[in-house]
Amino acid sequence: MKNIAVASVSLILLCALCVSVASLGFSSLCFAQSEKPDWCKTLPRPEYKSLERVLPDEPWFEVYKVAPATFAIYEPHQSEETISYLIVGTKQALLFDTGMGIGNIKAVVARLTSRPIVVLNSHTHDDHVGDNWQFPIVFGMDTTFTRASAKGAREDAQAEIGKDQICGALPKGFDPKKYSTKPWKITFPVHDGFKVNLGHRTVEIIATPGHTPDAISLIDRENGLLFTGDTYYPGEIWIYRPETNFAAYLASVVKLQKLVPEIKTVLGAHNIPVAQPDVLNQLLSATQMLYEGKIPATSVKGNLAIYKMGEISFRSRYPFPALDSK
Ligand SMILES: [Zn+2]
Repeated sequence: MKNIAVASVSLILLCALCVSVASLGFSSLCFAQSEKPDWCKTLPRPEYKSLERVLPDEPWFEVYKVAPATFAIYEPHQSEETISYLIVGTKQALLFDTGMGIGNIKAVVARLTSRPIVVLNSHTHDDHVGDNWQFPIVFGMDTTFTRASAKGAREDAQAEIGKDQICGALPKGFDPKKYSTKPWKITFPVHDGFKVNLGHRTVEIIATPGHTPDAISLIDRENGLLFTGDTYYPGEIWIYRPETNFAAYLASVVKLQKLVPEIKTVLGAHNIPVAQPDVLNQLLSATQMLYEGKIPATSVKGNLAIYKMGEISFRSRYPFPALDSK
């Protein structure tokens, strides 16, 4: 999760109107008539130009082939700009996150592979588990936080479609009034070091708690791919929620930085799917500096602030807590 705003009843009503207009085949009219939120005025992000786009006819998702048999499934019409990944082997495929649950990611995945799908979440914030309910096999970390998330929730989901959160048209048939994270079943508990054999391709779980207690990264050593979830992405990394533990986050970043020599690509869960391994060196420096209270806040809103160092930025508490109270 990286962005939540207060839900706006008026926008929800507007969305409802949009959906009914969309069902008549005029979906593009809908949000074109309303003011574009600031975050979406800068889209598309230029980094996407160099990526290989597939399934260009998908209206809600943008799909990019980011490595052999590896797809980034991006949601540019919602402010989180969430990215889920489909990692395909010869026997089965792993879907690393299921997105917002606004568009139907299951249908997209079915267009990309006919292999059986295993779902695994980078962590269980609402913007990464939205379509978990659609899949019969969902691996889950054995944490209280994961089990609580699996019960589903409405409030966080409703905030995701609140004022200024949507850019463009919602998918046909989507009912904003009913939008919630639907409950799902954890069919198999997994843990740090757990390997998933996809057939001629193995991915391994690296527990990286901090952003949430169940945050994980996933490494495909043979192809040099490291999927970092919300532990790293090129946007404001959220480390202030009640479920966040900053000391644990720092320890996880230390762990990831040690992998730099063996990886070629870092794939985060928001904004832009591909980064160079050096970004983890930068992330570690910035995290250590922040931990020591050495990065000044660049903007402050209430008890939250943005802290920036080079390309890395965090959204955290303000004033930043002293070392012994993190
Ligand atoms: Zn998150």
